[in-house]
Amino acid sequence: MARDSTLVYSTDSGRMCPDCRHPLAQCQCQKPPMARPSADGIVRLRRETKGRKGKGVTLIDGLDLEDAALESLVKTLKNRCGSGGSIRDGIVEIQGDHRQLLYRFLQEQGFKVKLAGG
Ligand SMILES: [Zn+2]
Repeated sequence: MARDSTLVYSTDSGRMCPDCRHPLAQCQCQKPPMARPSADGIVRLRRETKGRKGKGVTLIDGLDLEDAALESLVKTLKNRCGSGGSIRDGIVEIQGDHRQLLYRFLQEQGFKVKLAGG
């Protein structure tokens, strides 16, 4: 007697998520809205000019903050630099080369900061 092993809805693992079809305890839909690329506690500043206009952008990687705190910090950084900026996948982009300014400011805020590459 062959047993059907391709059960989609298993009764003994409880309720399934209708979206990802994983048990609710392992639901894949609840990922944090922004990925945190590096979590070693070190904030890295680097400049990226490739494919960018003018002076490029300063990228800030490794800011391990809640989304609201990150957004408010970025607002402050943009004011300090007098530049626009955005957050992409947890990496902050500030228009222009502001590494020295950002380095000092983030250190004052208590971050461990490193200048990387660029
Ligand atoms: Zn799900």
